[in-house]
Amino acid sequence: MNERADIAVIGSGPAGVSAAITAVVRNKKVILFGDMSSQSKLGKAHQIANYPGLYGVSGFELQEALKRHLDALHIIPYPQKITNVYAMGSYFTLLSGQEQFEAKSIIVATGVSFGKPLPGENQFLGHGVSYCATCDGMLYRNKKIAVIGYSKTEEKEVNFLAELSNKLYYVPLYKEPVAVDSRCEIIQGTPAAINGSKTVETLSLKSKEGEKILSVDGVFILRDSIPPAQLVEGLAIEENYIVVDRQMRTNISGVFAAGDITGTPYQYIKAAGEGNVAALSAVSYLG
Ligand SMILES: Cc1cc2nc3c(=O)[nH]c(=O)nc-3n(C[C@H](O)[C@H](O)[C@H](O)COP(=O)(O)OP(=O)(O)OC[C@H]3O[C@@H](n4cnc5c(N)ncnc54)[C@H](O)[C@@H]3O)c2cc1C
Repeated sequence: MNERADIAVIGSGPAGVSAAITAVVRNKKVILFGDMSSQSKLGKAHQIANYPGLYGVSGFELQEALKRHLDALHIIPYPQKITNVYAMGSYFTLLSGQEQFEAKSIIVATGVSFGKPLPGENQFLGHGVSYCATCDGMLYRNKKIAVIGYSKTEEKEVNFLAELSNKLYYVPLYKEPVAVDSRCEIIQGTPAAINGSKTVETLSLKSKEGEKILSVDGVFILRDSIPPAQLVEGLAIEENYIVVDRQMRTNISGVFAAGDITGTPYQYIKAAGEGNVAALSAVSYLG
């Protein structure tokens, strides 16, 4: 078990990095989660024209500058993806696979890359649909599953599931070459719907060759980001965004949110600004 932090920041885009910087400057023990080595949304902008003082930098250059800022303050991001946060009374427990972390307050800065849920996804959540291989993999021992991977970083999880299941269809939704366990059958196509009666029975896909229907017991959806209501139970959500006040407080005491996840406009400066406010609010909550 890791030492309990004052503030856990989930997400290492401009909102999360800004929150972590402000909290450390205010002498708080911070733990920042997010994989800054991968090509994040932050790194994708070709040229940024609207960040004050940094006219014309690329997203990649901004990402490198943020990493240098974290280095200077000795903040080392944990690359783990947090899959669940549980309120424990005076603190929160964060889960990432088998690992557990604790913090007295939480800042959710996970961005909005979870996209729209697939038809059937919400209906079958917990009844054949899962977001976490390590948490739910054992339930599918010797069963047939489909795994939808939104980025190459998910391949580790896919290999873990391949060891457990008796048949694994892997649907990669990224451009890089796929390198997964030879037991996986790779399926090219775009997921269209998850179907079943009480539990999942099929995953249908659209492809160049026409509709494909995979008969499965479960579907794992491995995205960069988990819908916030799944991440933190009880969080108030409106139109897929976390509801916050001007201090970036959510409806749960000790939980704050910042960046794209709180709504439009999707902009670096808005994300960084909200991260700063969320951290100051967390500091005063702790005080
Ligand atoms: C191609 C492109 C160009 C853009 N150009 C501009 C521009 O020129 N100017 C501008 O102002 N804005 C631009 N944007 C918008 C800008 O990128 C976003 O508004 C900004 O990145 C939002 O920051 P954020 O911190 O809220 O979220 P993000 O940048 O999305 O960061 C969230 C991070 O959290 C991580 N994460 C998510 N869930 C978890 C979890 N459960 N555990 C651990 N980590 C997690 C994600 O992997 C991600 O790295 C552009 C966006 C794109 C896609």
